[in-house]
Amino acid sequence: RFIVFEGVEGGGKTTQLERSRQWLINSGWLTFLQAKGWVQQLVITREPGGTDLGRGLRQLLLQSTQEPIQDRAELLLYAADRAQHVEGFLRPHLTQRSLILCDRYTDSTIAYQGYGRGLDQTLIAQLNHIATNGLQSDLTLWLDLDVKTGLTRTHQRGKADRIEQADFTFHQRVQQGFTALAEANPHRIARINAAQPEVAVFQEIQVILSDRLTE
Ligand code: C5P
Ligand code: MG
Repeated sequence: RFIVFEGVEGGGKTTQLERSRQWLINSGWLTFLQAKGWVQQLVITREPGGTDLGRGLRQLLLQSTQEPIQDRAELLLYAADRAQHVEGFLRPHLTQRSLILCDRYTDSTIAYQGYGRGLDQTLIAQLNHIATNGLQSDLTLWLDLDVKTGLTRTHQRGKADRIEQADFTFHQRVQQGFTALAEANPHRIARINAAQPEVAVFQEIQVILSDRLTE
């Protein structure tokens, strides 16, 4: 089982992912799934940065640089991070029947590098295929939050990274990307209203996870 958390900045992906992990353990869900033989263990990970190579790439991607990173170079670095993550982490874990909670995956590339940077969607689809070798999420939780609220949250959190500093219209295009993806993939992508208080957001996630974990 491969579950991904997606969305624009400040939507609470990391917080909700950690809450989900705690809840799966404490509610007895994990024990139940293990007893059924469906799941061996629960692991959490993220992109970029789910592997040693990926942590290096994440640093390169997110630090502010004097020399601008070219759009296609950026695309390829995310793809390299993903290829390493898929072959070195995700696939081995799925083979061992791990339940994986992952912070961002292929939809981020479509939204950020496709809709955001304006790179050709066919090129992105090809590259996503090369990087994943066809591995898709079973379920993607889209934490849908308007860009303004999200960016305000990240700026309150402290220093913004290279992407968070990008102009507002960039982030709006990214948001349009997630919206279009959710419309095109209604079963794989579940929309969560991330503008609610943290606890209410988590309740929505609980309902969806409870529903989908036994599918
Ligand atoms: O921790 P977080 O997921 O926010 O860090 C990843 C950063 O990389 C985000 O700021 C996001 O905007 C950016 N990103 C991107 N393109 C991707 C994936 C992430 O620009 N494909
Ligand atoms: Mg961020």
